[in-house]
Amino acid sequence: MEYRNIAIIAHVDHGKTTLVDGLLKQTLKLKHGEEIAERAMDSNDLEKERGITILAKNTAVEYKGIKINIVDTPGHADFGGEVERVLGMVDGALVLVDAAEGPMPQTRFVLRKAIELGLKPIVVINKIDRQDARIEEVVNLTFDLMAELGANDDQLDFPILYAVAREGKAFKDLDNPQEDMHELFEMVLEYIPAPPVDLEAPFQMLVTNLDYSEYLGRIVLGRVQRGQVKKGEFVQLMHKDGTMTKTRVIQPFTHLGLNRIEADVVGAGDIVALAGIEDAQIGETVADLADPEALPIITVDEPTVSMT
Ligand code: GDP
Repeated sequence: MEYRNIAIIAHVDHGKTTLVDGLLKQTLKLKHGEEIAERAMDSNDLEKERGITILAKNTAVEYKGIKINIVDTPGHADFGGEVERVLGMVDGALVLVDAAEGPMPQTRFVLRKAIELGLKPIVVINKIDRQDARIEEVVNLTFDLMAELGANDDQLDFPILYAVAREGKAFKDLDNPQEDMHELFEMVLEYIPAPPVDLEAPFQMLVTNLDYSEYLGRIVLGRVQRGQVKKGEFVQLMHKDGTMTKTRVIQPFTHLGLNRIEADVVGAGDIVALAGIEDAQIGETVADLADPEALPIITVDEPTVSMT
């Protein structure tokens, strides 16, 4: 399997949820046809009502046989190091900006981290249907913001998409609008680097986040750096003080749509969850039993200024 791992950076209400809905719907449509896609999306309504949680998880879509993991970024300094950790799992970011409002504090806060981490940005100007849209100006403001945040030449050379997420549209050329989001998918495949997929190497994964299930206990989340791990396999949990605990992967999970699904094996490049690693803490490494090697912890400069 080949992957692309991306984050979505957006100020609240700029259309993150709507955009992800559109991406999901399009991949469902490609796979199953329009009617089934509509029905599947409707059954997500309950989840949608829970609002902010919908994207707290990883969303995964498949396009042309490539799995695209889309992670949400908490957009506020209150989340401390979580932004850096989440961004550490991805190689690129969709920077979603409202065509009328332009970049806002939350855009800026997360974008700064993304730029620092060297991620490749794709700028998506959303809501171009708004009466008060000022598309060109907003593109320029976004460019200026990136320059101010220290973007390198490569990052400043970002591609741009124009979107009406609410109508499931995103396209490259304002003079040649498209009725769907295939140009966005193509751009992600083309422009965002694929993570390395070395399945033969000893397993290695940085614990980026923790979750909890009533049945399975603690669940660790992260991107598999290299290798793979099977259900029932023993691994080493490498603590920050250099000690290790031998522990067993009770159940690996991958993602499909908005759901976390059980897998027999998960491997390099994918963003996964593992149940069974009971003592795990954020920043620790889950590693191969025989050949464990710790990953560096993503350095977190705790924000001193919030939402500037
Ligand atoms: P989020 O907070 O970033 O997840 O934003 P939502 O996806 O919830 O969208 C916020 C509001 O913007 C909702 O009322 C959407 O219907 C609306 N919206 C999303 N995309 C578009 C668009 O392309 N055009 C217009 N006019 N409104 C949109």
